[in-house]
Amino acid sequence: MALLKLQVAGAVVLKKKAMPVADITPAIRTLADDMAETLKAAHGLALAAPQVGESVRLVVIDRGYLEWEALSEEERKKVRCEYRPEALINPEIVKKEGGDEELEEGCLSVPGYRAAVKRARIVTYRWRDLGGVMHERRAEGLEAVCIQHELDHLDGVLFIDRISRLKRNLALGKVKKFVEELDPEEDEAEYRLYGKP
Ligand code: ZN
Repeated sequence: MALLKLQVAGAVVLKKKAMPVADITPAIRTLADDMAETLKAAHGLALAAPQVGESVRLVVIDRGYLEWEALSEEERKKVRCEYRPEALINPEIVKKEGGDEELEEGCLSVPGYRAAVKRARIVTYRWRDLGGVMHERRAEGLEAVCIQHELDHLDGVLFIDRISRLKRNLALGKVKKFVEELDPEEDEAEYRLYGKP
């Protein structure tokens, strides 16, 4: 497994509509494994392939965290949150329900910035796993937000494209500063993820 370089806002690949995965090849499995390792190193919740420079419809989410987060406060104290990456091949939203809900979002491709985004409250989504098996789930809360955010990535949309122009410019400024200030001596972990040539 290998760490992949994270792409930040401004990269062309983040603007493109990603191609469906035609076959679940060894290359796709390797990409999913590498994305899982990268997501863990970045302490993120989910990662879409365009964020590591690959314009294909593949998303890796931390199912362990999503399940843990959905527990009650009491249960959370008893259960340990475990990292459990899951690959979603060609995921699609088949139904959206509920009015707009605003939750604060962040993104590994927009380091150092968070903002509230309006999204549907409940989504039903479908995907194939790495074995080619189709799944369908109805999700709300953080999972629903996460799925909408990740599927946006596959269509070339960032969460900062869904907020005001003023806030978007502020976010882009922060990303620019983050990249300029990357220092392999000072932020070794960040440099491994964002600074590689
Ligand atoms: Zn994102």
